[in-house]
Amino acid sequence: MIRLAQICSIVCILFLTFDANSQVKAPQNGKRPNQLVITNAIIVDGNGTPAEGPVNIVIKQNRIAEIAAPSKDAEYLKTADAIIDASGKYVLPGLINMHGHLQDERAGKPMPFDYQYKLWLGCGITTIRDVGSEISKALVEKEKSKTGEIAAPRIFLYMWFPGGNNETEIRSEVRDLKAKGADGMKIWSIDHDTFRIAADEAKKQGLKIAHHVGVEDTNAWDDAAFGTTSIEHWYGVPDAALHGVQHLPPDFNYNNELYRFRYAGRLWRETDPEKLKLVLQKLVDSNVAWDPTFAIYEASRDLQRAITQPWFKDYLHPTLEAYFAPNPENHGSFFFGWTNTDEVFWKENYKIWMKAVKDFSDMGGIVTTGEDAGFIYEMYGFGLLRELELQQEAGFQPREVIAHATGNGAKVLGKAAELGRIKVGYLADLIIVNGNPLENLHILFPTGINPTLDEQRGGKGGVEWTIKDGIPYHAPTLFAEVKEIVRQAREKK
Ligand SMILES: [Zn+2]
Repeated sequence: MIRLAQICSIVCILFLTFDANSQVKAPQNGKRPNQLVITNAIIVDGNGTPAEGPVNIVIKQNRIAEIAAPSKDAEYLKTADAIIDASGKYVLPGLINMHGHLQDERAGKPMPFDYQYKLWLGCGITTIRDVGSEISKALVEKEKSKTGEIAAPRIFLYMWFPGGNNETEIRSEVRDLKAKGADGMKIWSIDHDTFRIAADEAKKQGLKIAHHVGVEDTNAWDDAAFGTTSIEHWYGVPDAALHGVQHLPPDFNYNNELYRFRYAGRLWRETDPEKLKLVLQKLVDSNVAWDPTFAIYEASRDLQRAITQPWFKDYLHPTLEAYFAPNPENHGSFFFGWTNTDEVFWKENYKIWMKAVKDFSDMGGIVTTGEDAGFIYEMYGFGLLRELELQQEAGFQPREVIAHATGNGAKVLGKAAELGRIKVGYLADLIIVNGNPLENLHILFPTGINPTLDEQRGGKGGVEWTIKDGIPYHAPTLFAEVKEIVRQAREKK
């Protein structure tokens, strides 16, 4: 009995000591320590190289200061303000969402930015490229994120290009975006001549161009000719590889979204594979990146999957929910009488599209990841994680997909020298994941993707810590906060 009591007290003291230590060294959610150390991490870098480790990562303020073999008595452990033990966990660069829209309302109904930000951070997104939102608000949000005043990913603003009636106007509109503080501009539904002039002025102003390339006056050939930075979505790529124009029924009207999306699902099948190869090669040669946003179209190939996503239960804001419901007034809410035939066409459409993205990459093209959430049953954060899975379906290995979501995003943003990698001197944007995403990309989801996985992880799955600019955010805490935002909003409703 005595011996047992002695053992007990030793164990208790050990526990207390350990607990006291972890109390002192545990990072605080949303507060940047002077020196944060992540120990025993297996790292997956943003350049597609194999995982390696374990290593200790030392972060000073907002930069990675040292990456070293684990050692129990290293000086930096004594001077650290916070330590995260990453034993059994994987550390990746923070994910870059190349296609986001800052939204604090949908169809006039309010929804706080905070809701978006917490979902993005909770899903491991440390950078978003905003490709069109309300400029005045976006500029304020960008600044607040930069100073750490709000918990939000880094924000790069590619502002809507408003167009112009003549060359003088077009050039002045581009210069105006630059003067407002744009990192780039977003164009869509643009005619050939306006595009040529706007792109020329953008080059002079050092503005990058994201093109939602549609079935319109311009297509991928123009992107190659005029110096587009990245193609968003896809339409203009197959459109450039047709013989003539797509076959459409005589009563087709592009403004009818049901028709537009229905026949978009029959576009890739009309491409000439040989001509498509030429288009892809031309894009690669012209250094145009491709941000395919597979995830945002998934409702078209499987509507039932889209409307029953498990995270809707706790995390779908009623404002988004109302926006998603079929309504011709809301962009992307077009699912009236969507048929199995539509889905079958879309499944074929995806196959050809995915192969084109893989071929583009194999030819040397840069593929990135974007989600375009806030439309078509796509939730912030979850949309990007689904994009990663769909890129694996397109034929990429998980390691390559992670490079698309990190290093490639940084390249396209022009920030490859300090973002998207786990390297000394780089900005401390990192995520700590409960498990190995190379084995299973489902691992990145917080919850709801697989009941066995949820059980194994005790409901604490997915990304555990998202570190943005040296500030650690505890993902389960963020999700609990989102749940509360949603609960209160539902109550008010
Ligand atoms: Zn968009």
